[in-house]
Amino acid sequence: MPKAQETVLEIDLNALKHNFEYIKSKLQKDTKILAVVKAFAYGSHAEIIADYLQNLDVDYFAVAYVSEGVALRNAGIIKPILVLHPQAVNFKTLIERCLEPSLYSSKVLHEFIAVASEEQQNDYPIHIKFNTGLNRLGFSDNDVDHIISTLKSSKAVKAKSIFSHLAASEDLSEKEFTIQQIQKFKSIAENFSEKIGYQPMFHICNTSGILNYPEAHLDMVRTGIGLYGFGNSEEENKHFKPIATLKSVISQIHHIKKGETVGYNRAFKSQTMVKSATIPIGHADGINRQYGNGKGYVMINGKPAYIIGNVCMDMIMVDVSDMDCKEGDEIIIFGPHPHSASEFSKTAQTISYEIITAISTRVKRVFLT
Ligand SMILES: *Cc1c(COP(=O)(O)O)cnc(C)c1O
Repeated sequence: MPKAQETVLEIDLNALKHNFEYIKSKLQKDTKILAVVKAFAYGSHAEIIADYLQNLDVDYFAVAYVSEGVALRNAGIIKPILVLHPQAVNFKTLIERCLEPSLYSSKVLHEFIAVASEEQQNDYPIHIKFNTGLNRLGFSDNDVDHIISTLKSSKAVKAKSIFSHLAASEDLSEKEFTIQQIQKFKSIAENFSEKIGYQPMFHICNTSGILNYPEAHLDMVRTGIGLYGFGNSEEENKHFKPIATLKSVISQIHHIKKGETVGYNRAFKSQTMVKSATIPIGHADGINRQYGNGKGYVMINGKPAYIIGNVCMDMIMVDVSDMDCKEGDEIIIFGPHPHSASEFSKTAQTISYEIITAISTRVKRVFLT
């Protein structure tokens, strides 16, 4: 790869393949893999990532919203796409584009059946979501009888899977709670399939669920962050390769005299002579203001250069005193472990998920194949 000459997010498709194979190595042969490509494939590029994964034999995709599913269909993705959080206003579009809804309450189930009937659908695939402790979206275990009678009274839809979502699968201090969630889901699943008279697929694991609870892989697993290179623990991170490297360049070097200030609101006041470098990336690109004033840093020739002053909309300034660097040099904001997005995000008390999905579309995506 030639050195960056502007801010770019470099996406390594070989790393994606590596992560996919690693996750697959954790599964039984007949366990299906659903790739979560919501939020632009966690800030990378939904269409290109989904297309690549489709050729790697992924069984299913998931997105959060209907518009994301439509974008994948427009890009030629033909595998089934689960929409995790569709809104009724988009149900007609969802059906037109052969997307499959997660239905999580009596209200949305009835709304969806009404639209599917109007569109003269037969056995349209739906996915029933149960709440087992996250308390975000999902039917409760008491709703099973009502769901069954609703499904039996309509020919328009058919439950292709029933699923749930773990609240703390990455947090081993919550193991007891997670095991309870898994038990609860298994008992709902058995009750449901007995009463409906056929066997939908069952799934509950996200990436950390896959890694930490092999007994809960069931028929399918849903992996997001793992595909993008994060195992949610130092130990597991060793097996993953972050697919995205955020790079930029030094636009200008300044020599700041003692008593001078840097950036808006004069937030950095120089105590000594300081050499600063201005970088063309700011809060409009996803580096939010929490990273400013000495928290976040970028790597220059393998050494950390801390952000000084406030993060601007389009730029940051970093301290490069004592560093051998010049205008035009490449810098790295995050990339492979150990200088990964999860390390970078810790400097602002957040997590890899947040920083990687925050990199705005203004940052050019380039692909390594
Ligand atoms: C986002 C999401 C996932 C993916 O979780 P990771 O931790 O990124 O693997 C799986 N299932 C549901 C319901 C989600 O919303």
